[in-house]
Amino acid sequence: MSSIIQLLPDHVANQIAAGEVVQRPASVVKELLENAVDAKATDIKLVVKDAGKSLVQVIDNGVGMSVTDARLCFERHATSKIRLAEDLFSLHTKGFRGEALASIAAIAHVEMNTRQEQDELGTHLIIEGSKFVTQEPAVLAVGTSFMVKNLFYNIPARRNFLKSDTVEFRHVMDEFQRVVLAHPSISFSMYHNGSEMFNLPSSNFRQRIVNVFSGKTNEKLVPVQEETDILTIQGFVGKPEFAKKNRGEQFFFVNDRYIKSGYLHHAVMAAYEGLLKEGAQPSYFLYLQVPPNTIDINIHPTKTEIKFDDEHALYAILRSTVKHSLGQFNVVPALDFDRDPNLDTPYQYQNKAAEYPTVQVDRDYNPFAPSQPSKSFSGGGSSYKKPESQTSWESLYVGLKQDTIEVDQFSFENEVVTASLFDEKEEEQVVNSTYQIHKKYIVSPIKSGMVIIDQSRAHQRVLYEQFLTNMTVHQASSQQLLFPLHLHFSANEMELLHELKPSLENTGFVFEEMAEDSVHISGIPVNTSESEASIVLEQLISDLHDGIPESSFSQNDTIAKSMAKSLAVKTGTYLTEKEQENLVNNLFACKEPDVSPFQKPTFITMRVEDIDKRFAL
Ligand code: ADP
Ligand code: MG
Repeated sequence: MSSIIQLLPDHVANQIAAGEVVQRPASVVKELLENAVDAKATDIKLVVKDAGKSLVQVIDNGVGMSVTDARLCFERHATSKIRLAEDLFSLHTKGFRGEALASIAAIAHVEMNTRQEQDELGTHLIIEGSKFVTQEPAVLAVGTSFMVKNLFYNIPARRNFLKSDTVEFRHVMDEFQRVVLAHPSISFSMYHNGSEMFNLPSSNFRQRIVNVFSGKTNEKLVPVQEETDILTIQGFVGKPEFAKKNRGEQFFFVNDRYIKSGYLHHAVMAAYEGLLKEGAQPSYFLYLQVPPNTIDINIHPTKTEIKFDDEHALYAILRSTVKHSLGQFNVVPALDFDRDPNLDTPYQYQNKAAEYPTVQVDRDYNPFAPSQPSKSFSGGGSSYKKPESQTSWESLYVGLKQDTIEVDQFSFENEVVTASLFDEKEEEQVVNSTYQIHKKYIVSPIKSGMVIIDQSRAHQRVLYEQFLTNMTVHQASSQQLLFPLHLHFSANEMELLHELKPSLENTGFVFEEMAEDSVHISGIPVNTSESEASIVLEQLISDLHDGIPESSFSQNDTIAKSMAKSLAVKTGTYLTEKEQENLVNNLFACKEPDVSPFQKPTFITMRVEDIDKRFAL
């Protein structure tokens, strides 16, 4: 009988191996960033387009590669990081399997530029689906740049399996965060579809965490430090009162590598025993150093799970160290479990001075008078009605919609703004003089000079206030769908949706049926298209990374922000003159026109004098 077994050709073997290493664009991000770190780069730039589906590019200033290595690095099991099996026990690099580049090159269009310091010329190389297309010398900066384009172009099934850009981008962000948090001394920057997402200077652990997770993080952190023979721990844990509902900011790094470990997580949670509300999740950023020969990183292809020799000892040390830190920093007495979420300040009132409550006394009140149980408190008049403006924060938004509709084109709610910004005499002229530049800004002349509006941020502000109003007055209109949308979500995501259902219904969503892993939607908010509905929900879920806020104000606020972000016109969108005008008018009819819901400026003004000055130079 003839033999039927054959060795697979390399490119097929590589494609199969790629399935293990590269699941999604974020996997490419991880591998390329780790290679750059291994190449001793001090500055690394990540550029991503369409959540990495069209492009992932990593540019480093590391050691680069020689002409031969530039070609060899795409071979399977080609690595400069280990030579012998024993080397596995003294690893100081992220990579060692020599598989990543071979796998990536098998399923994408890859372009590489690389130069070592000692070489005059570098190498430019193109490889597509494991086939070398070009290799030529080129004048290049020291370091390496990898461009990975059209991921899974030759495996349509895998490409179709990718989730929406929102979801894929969240994974990219996760991988980016894991690498940048592990290497604070390296400066990193990240760009998505042309916008800068992060620019992180070289710093220390604490500063890096704060730079990644916003300034407020600093006051929430308690330092952790411990040194023993088998383990060094440093890092930070979050004060219990800042714990969240889901596990957003929990990071373990072992020997500078991000890892997942249910066991170590348990140790940290044990340290918080008695300090957290049920189900609350503290933040932690814990950097563990152990001798490389006491761990085995080899048990998972993406190397996020590792095996420790002496897990029990690690558990005990970690728990007592964290516990000690929480105690030492006097976190316990500051706890206030019973904080009333209703006291959360609506954003409008955050910077305003407190108003003293007025005591209202009913001088006519006679406790012995039998038939007046519900007599008013308002000084003997007719029955007491709480003034609407004081019922609750919700009233802040009541009536807003009407206001904005009634506002005529150039009468802004805030008269001061109107007077100083637009020249009334020029009204007619102003109407026809908005210009869109670079599909990004709208420029319009005003009395004192000109105003330049960021179209995307401006639209976010407009939508945000609209949604918030609709939600608070429970009067959103919904558009009925002819065929209900059927969307799939993971169990976790469904849990979030369940919790948010009432608030989402206030925006105009109608949920017909919520199953374990999917949802039928029969109505969507009026200013949303059918195809945008899923984007909105996915974005929302990804924005709730940090847990669902407790008070209903914050919940509505989060939803309104997230939906505004998803639905606002983006940079790069052409706007007709009419659309430009509408946007400008709607923006200045807003309560807070000058900042986006994310507190970024929506417009800038340039005075004529300033322009004159520039010309006088
Ligand atoms: P591994 O990282 O496991 O060694 P990879 O396939 O990721 O495997 O990379 C193969 C080899 O290519 C590396 O061992 C390294 O020598 C070289 N290499 C990859 N990326 C870079 C880079 N950015 N700078 C310098 N050399 C690199
Ligand atoms: Mg690698």
